[in-house]
Amino acid sequence: MDDLIRKSDKLSAVAQLAAGVAHEIRNPLTSIKGFLQLFQREGQYDSHFISLIMDELNRVESIIYEYLTLAKPNYETTFNKVNLQELIEQTITLSETQSILKNISLYYEFENVPPIYGNEKQIKQVVMNLIRNAIEAVEVNGQIRLRLINHSEDQVCIEVEDNGCGISKDRIERLGEPFYSTKEKGTGLGLMVCYKILEHHNGVMNVHSEISKGTRIEVILPVYIHIPKEVLLT
Ligand code: ADP
Ligand code: MG
Repeated sequence: MDDLIRKSDKLSAVAQLAAGVAHEIRNPLTSIKGFLQLFQREGQYDSHFISLIMDELNRVESIIYEYLTLAKPNYETTFNKVNLQELIEQTITLSETQSILKNISLYYEFENVPPIYGNEKQIKQVVMNLIRNAIEAVEVNGQIRLRLINHSEDQVCIEVEDNGCGISKDRIERLGEPFYSTKEKGTGLGLMVCYKILEHHNGVMNVHSEISKGTRIEVILPVYIHIPKEVLLT
């Protein structure tokens, strides 16, 4: 009985989110349609409008991508031993063009940490979403620091710190709510996806922030626990 209730709770949360996604996608689609109607009427197009259309399509694409991660059931993701330093280095490479374009100084520090047990693609997405937010938060002289450290004997910590705009106290409480975004082109799904993925991994995310000083986000994950074969056999 308890299980049934919990299942129906989950369903309605997904249904609510689906309604939200439909709503969020309608706006960019309406504006794309408007631009196309304009081109049709004028018989020509302005390249400036093409880049606006591309922006809107990118937004639709991110919303759908992030929504799929949220709606995907856990059993479809396989867990493996994951080396976090390698994963973070790959994610940095993926976001490099953006940080170079914005002239951001990127620092990183890797402690020797044990592997974790998780889904590589999902953890990469968490790190990517945090780096992206940091890149979007900084202005001139932007600095982003990434740290991989031992948090305790059986936990590791990935830290993403920026010297950007910061988040006010009342806003910190709203982080992770769907579609909560202060950005013109934000989806407000990035952190929700992070929280959801970390939940699967028994991890936590702590946000420390001060307005116009910056933000430091800690992701704490349990390390892979090696169970000797002999124990499994007995
Ligand atoms: P989006 O980036 O699409 O707005 P997110 O869920 O990633 O959605 O973030 C939600 C909101 O949290 C952002 O709009 C922003 O207001 C705030 N935020 C997240 N990370 C940072 C950060 N590093 N610095 C300042 N604000 C942030
Ligand atoms: Mg984001």
